[in-house]
Amino acid sequence: MDQYPDTSRRITDAAATSTGDRLDAYVDRYATRTHGMTASEVRSLFSVASRPEVVSLAGGMPNISGLPMDVVGSLLTELVDKRGLTAMQYGSGQGDALLREQICEIMQTAGIHGHPDDVTVTVGSQQALDLVTRIFIDPGDVILAEAPSYVGALSTFRSYQADVVHIEMDDDGLVPDRLREAIQSVTDSGRRIKFLYTIPNYHNPAGVTLPPERRTEILEICQQADVLIIEDDPYGLLGFDTDCPRALRADDDERVIYLGSFSKTFAPGFRVGWTLAPHAVREKLVLAAESSVLCPPAFSQMAVSQYLVGHDWRGQVKAFREMYRERRDAMLEALDDLMPEGTHWTRPTGGFYVWLTLPSGLDAKAMLPRAVTNRVAYVPGTAFYADGFGSRSMRLSYCYPTPERIREGIRRLAQVVEQEMEL
Ligand code: PMP
Repeated sequence: MDQYPDTSRRITDAAATSTGDRLDAYVDRYATRTHGMTASEVRSLFSVASRPEVVSLAGGMPNISGLPMDVVGSLLTELVDKRGLTAMQYGSGQGDALLREQICEIMQTAGIHGHPDDVTVTVGSQQALDLVTRIFIDPGDVILAEAPSYVGALSTFRSYQADVVHIEMDDDGLVPDRLREAIQSVTDSGRRIKFLYTIPNYHNPAGVTLPPERRTEILEICQQADVLIIEDDPYGLLGFDTDCPRALRADDDERVIYLGSFSKTFAPGFRVGWTLAPHAVREKLVLAAESSVLCPPAFSQMAVSQYLVGHDWRGQVKAFREMYRERRDAMLEALDDLMPEGTHWTRPTGGFYVWLTLPSGLDAKAMLPRAVTNRVAYVPGTAFYADGFGSRSMRLSYCYPTPERIREGIRRLAQVVEQEMEL
């Protein structure tokens, strides 16, 4: 894992300002926060990475080719036939009551005993991130986040002008001592930490998972320092060796706001995610959600609900896990066989991603055009930091390409790294 030495580095307005703004005739009309809205490096890579000759290890799209479309199709037909008028109508701002019950049942796998009334259904967990940030963050407020962190969360934090303080991880995720130090240093500077944002399971982009002892320690640290935790868990059910790890939320229902999603366990196109929050926070989340979308789409929610009842969805998740495991194995074997000395990478036990750090002196962002010329794409590590750190690293996704394509992609990447070392 990349060292992240300076816990005081933060987003600045200058770093967040898009160079594109200079070409934008409306630039002096925008609200201050709009200047922080820039296209992510991941998004701008899509057009290159999607060329057929390029092996893309860049995208994080779930591979849903194994979904039984005939089953989903007949469930949707049944939904339209039997409950079409409700499914196509406005619904509750908090989300469908039956789905919220089903979500509570699913969360039990992570040791969570939540009440359906504390669940808010959202438009993917991305909207949950937006809502949570909206209700807690004033410009300049501090958010603690892992280094590196999920690019979509960082862009949401930036758009609300949060001040992100990154905290170092190692191969076991967030390092508790670094968390203690960061809390101390922010508190000493007289500022208030609004929350810690963490992805404990099969981290995007780092591919690491917090062991149980660390979960307990992190909870204790946050309890002592009175810091809220946003636990983002879209990959928890996609472990290769174990069942879903016990959530932080399972051991603290007042301090932890838990975010879940059906994007990786079913399909992202329905855009259904959720939050489980303390009751008072849940009320604010629903008010914030109503002001942005009125209500989550009834059709999508009822489709997901129907799928959970009408199909062996746990069996389907098992099939997804096996598919991703095979791809993870292909990537790790190819990395072990082909990467030159001095290159390091994480060994994920679930999820979609490997985090690779190049030999010292190499720069993943500068190397990307040469990698694309050699027909392989990845996301440079800088995309996952609020402040330009991470240039020696990259995120490699194994979720989408076939094992053969993954091996070929790593072969091409290893060639580029070797050439780069000779320069
Ligand atoms: N959190 C993390 C860590 C993610 O990786 C993603 C999707 N890549 C999301 C949240 C958002 O997912 P969705 O909105 O599809 O639920």
